[in-house]
Amino acid sequence: MERTLPPLAPGTLYLVATPIGNLEDITFRALRVLRECDVIAAEDTRRTGQLLKHFEISKPMVSYFQFNEAKRSEEILSRLERGEKVALVTDAGTPGISDPGERVVRAAVAAGRRVESVPGPCALVAALTASGLPTDEFHFIGFLPHKSGRRRNQLEALKQFAGTLALYESPYRIEKLLGELNEVFPGRTVVLARELTKKFEEFLRGKPAELLALVAKRSLKGEFVVLVSGEEELPTGDAGHADETP
Ligand code: SAM
Repeated sequence: MERTLPPLAPGTLYLVATPIGNLEDITFRALRVLRECDVIAAEDTRRTGQLLKHFEISKPMVSYFQFNEAKRSEEILSRLERGEKVALVTDAGTPGISDPGERVVRAAVAAGRRVESVPGPCALVAALTASGLPTDEFHFIGFLPHKSGRRRNQLEALKQFAGTLALYESPYRIEKLLGELNEVFPGRTVVLARELTKKFEEFLRGKPAELLALVAKRSLKGEFVVLVSGEEELPTGDAGHADETP
């Protein structure tokens, strides 16, 4: 383990993971990078402004989001070329994971710039590791497309994959997704990881039909990661009912 760290390196792009709901999850290193960088490229400067305010950090920000990634990537590259230390953050979690980041990282790598990861919260990893499903082999899909036909085709294609499947889904489509899983993977175990790291965090486990029955009784709000077992057997043993683990 490093005990004393060198100052930030000029001309480096730092990918800084930020909390996904619990501010205690910020790392010491993330705070140091945010304090010592020259500029923060943020997905949403207002959201990141709140985070910075909480940690009493004052730093210039530029917005960097999905629809201006190309233009902003060029701008970030010129800053790196000038020797600036740039921290990239998204609204929550790890940049580049179903979030902006990939394009500027690719451009920076292609231009021979240094890119460093400042690891921390990621909803995928938090959900998968506490799900009780196998973690040795998994396939992360991110968000499925919105159109029903394309969603269905993608799910059908995933039947071939033996490991755990992991998806991000909006609370507005969670019931729709469970219906689709019930058609494509009726015998598999599904884990809904809801509101991770927050006050109402819970893991709901069961077959798609059992979880559908549960959401019919209880409207589920908040943020979700959805995991689907690669095999029909329940790894935890208790297959009978949707298991609500607080
Ligand atoms: N880059 C982020 C990460 O590292 O996890 C993901 C960003 S993506 C735009 C947002 C999605 O991540 C949400 O719709 C949800 O599926 C998942 N997510 C983020 N925070 C979560 C939380 N606290 N609990 C459950 N899922 C979460």
